[in-house]
Amino acid sequence: MKILVTGGAGFIGSAVVRLAISRGHEVVNLDALTYAACLENLATVSDSALYCFEQADIRDRAAIARIFSKHRPDMVMHLAAESHVDRSIDGPGDFIQTNIVGTFNMLEAARTYWSGAGKPDGFCFHHISTDEVFGSLSADPADRFCEDTPYDPRSPYSASKASSDHLVRAWHETYGLPVVLTNCSNNYGPYQFPEKLIPVVILNAISDRPIPIYGNGSNVRDWLFVLDHAEALLLVAEKGRVGRSYNIGGENERTNLEIVQAICAILDDIRPRVNGKSYADLIAYVTDRPGHDARYAIDASRIGNELGWRPSVTVEEGLETTIRWYLENEGWWRPMLEQQGLGQRLGTGRKAA
Ligand code: NAD
Repeated sequence: MKILVTGGAGFIGSAVVRLAISRGHEVVNLDALTYAACLENLATVSDSALYCFEQADIRDRAAIARIFSKHRPDMVMHLAAESHVDRSIDGPGDFIQTNIVGTFNMLEAARTYWSGAGKPDGFCFHHISTDEVFGSLSADPADRFCEDTPYDPRSPYSASKASSDHLVRAWHETYGLPVVLTNCSNNYGPYQFPEKLIPVVILNAISDRPIPIYGNGSNVRDWLFVLDHAEALLLVAEKGRVGRSYNIGGENERTNLEIVQAICAILDDIRPRVNGKSYADLIAYVTDRPGHDARYAIDASRIGNELGWRPSVTVEEGLETTIRWYLENEGWWRPMLEQQGLGQRLGTGRKAA
């Protein structure tokens, strides 16, 4: 199968590209290479005959159309997006342009190509989205996001992703474009850009810097290891039912404080601080994110029952793998830390300087 992956130089997209190539699929990686991209994530596959890179922006309709007619994909996996909630609070414009208008451009290009090719069997547009479109849950453990949960996005990021989900469903209902959607929980793992919680905690800890926790750290997330997610995405791409949505979660609900404490405990064990103290001493509570959703939790029974997927690791196992990866790959993250603005507090509701 020839898969057009958008955002394949990002965190999740690169995991999907590496896995798809290891399974023998041809991959065209379409990516604009924004600040969040890193082509080194693809070093293990970039020389493969199965891999091809197209630097293009999904806001550029002509470029997208050209890539469809040149490569004639059997499947689209659309991951390209602005993905950081804090950045969406400070500057929502890019989120509207890339996540909404960009998805519209991708849908139109896919529809034109698919119609022009005689509506080939098996063609599908797989849209990768987030559980944040469903809003925030109560503390009741029985309260979980399922595929029919009404949309209730709260941040510019989640609102832009919700818009894109609606567009994808509309293109299916209105034009018959074969689509499938997935909504997943918070990912973590190797190659995650060091502005997201888990890499920030690991890298601040090993640099002996304060470990910031928003608010009181009680916000609950369902942590999904990125390699498990990539497996689930390929499964949906290969076997998902057209027109259907699948929620993907890690079965690993933890508060942010628990996650930070777990990282500190693993680091205490595998890389003790020179002063003999615990890394947990570095925890510093900072002002909460405005509109910070209290709890996300996924009911992943549909993808489990219909496609046989389950996460393969607990969050503690996945965290240890992740921490060891960051310890061994300073050459990957060090140059990124030096990028302008990284490490500064974002998303407090004040406009970025
Ligand atoms: P990321 O920020 O690491 O990577 C995004 C990629 O998209 C980058 O390579 C970037 O260059 C590319 N991109 C951005 N704007 C583009 C544009 N205009 N044209 C072409 N390429 C562009 O993101 P990620 O964490 O890998 O997330 C991938 C997808 O999964 C996103 O759609 C995101 O909304 C969704 N998602 C992520 C998470 C998570 O925890 N990371 C959770 C749920 C859903």
